[in-house]
Amino acid sequence: MLPTKSYAAFDSKSPLRPFAFDRRDPRPTDVHIAIDFCGICHSDLHQVRDEWSGSKYPMVPGHEIVGHVVGVGASVTKHKKGDVVGVGCFVDSCRECEMCKSGREQFCAKGMTGTYNGFERDGVTPTYGGYSTQIVVDESYVLRVPKGLPLDRVAPLLCAGITTYSPLRHWKVTKGQRVGILGLGGLGHMGVKLAVAMGAEVTLLSTSPSKKADAKRLGAHDFVLTNDAAAVAAHAGRFDVILDSVSAPHDLALFVGLLKAEGTHVLLGAPSQPYTLPAFALIMGRRSIAGSLIGGIAETQEMLDFCGKHEIAADVETIAIQEVDHAYDRMLKGDVRYRFVIDTASLSK
Ligand code: NAP
Ligand code: ZN
Ligand code: ZN
Repeated sequence: MLPTKSYAAFDSKSPLRPFAFDRRDPRPTDVHIAIDFCGICHSDLHQVRDEWSGSKYPMVPGHEIVGHVVGVGASVTKHKKGDVVGVGCFVDSCRECEMCKSGREQFCAKGMTGTYNGFERDGVTPTYGGYSTQIVVDESYVLRVPKGLPLDRVAPLLCAGITTYSPLRHWKVTKGQRVGILGLGGLGHMGVKLAVAMGAEVTLLSTSPSKKADAKRLGAHDFVLTNDAAAVAAHAGRFDVILDSVSAPHDLALFVGLLKAEGTHVLLGAPSQPYTLPAFALIMGRRSIAGSLIGGIAETQEMLDFCGKHEIAADVETIAIQEVDHAYDRMLKGDVRYRFVIDTASLSK
């Protein structure tokens, strides 16, 4: 067994604190990874605080993992010692269903194995995430990190990057299309960068006037403050696609009204409360509301390679693990520029 240091939540109310546990010894198809950095996703906060219910404790969060391979099982062919690799939101799936076979493992019919707050395929061994010193993952669920990007800035690509890349590809965003990005946090800022790189005309829709300059710096062509419903409504009928990364309840009808006819509002953010929407918001103009969940392994690799080619990485504040609760509080206030990333060397202090 591999003794591992981590920070864990022990219930939904208390601060995270140190937790020691054992990772399994690598099996023949496993990759043993020393974790360098792990991003802090708003989903970590939702789950630590049991906002989606069903949280399992102790919980070691973290699914934006970047590290170095320190060992591989005897049958591993895809990765070797010394490689820089990433692990995202899931570490296994059934591998047999239609979704798994077509590279959409995130929608596995039997359920993907979440990197944390889940169970291995045996249904009893808990999975522990990236707020830890090392992880052991089957080679098929480990990603290659392109050379040339700073690793702390790569970590958020493993969730925030793929979560915004996948819907932009699925809804075929191309040059000249108008894309709205709702909410400028971890997901939102990656959505801006990726949509701009795909040639779209990008507008940031935000509650924070202080983020206007950053939106432009990140490449957005326009900025709309969303606190004033009348000002928002002035942009009615403008967008082909809106990526909604807001983590709290908000007025969907207002934003659906910003779509062109037959445009799509894609829910990425996952507040715990349900939305309400008048039918006419969709009927008029045959507009759609859709959801999208991260991306499959092949598409995540495609996204990483795209980011390598276009020199795209996250804007991050790198922190020590001891600052994680403060980081959660700031994230909850929308005060992160634009992703906290844990330097896991701090776990050994
Ligand atoms: P984040 O960094 O905290 O960003 C969320 C942004 O939403 C904030 O920066 C803020 O942007 C806006 N916002 C927050 N509260 C708001 C409110 N009450 N009203 C309006 N706007 C508000 O979070 P994230 O890590 O990007 O994650 C965003 C959401 O996506 C979370 O719910 C997370 O669980 C979910 N998520 C989903 C997937 C998926 O696969 N679908 C993957 C990862 C995360 P402004 O200041 O610009 O308004
Ligand atoms: Zn995430
Ligand atoms: Zn499956």
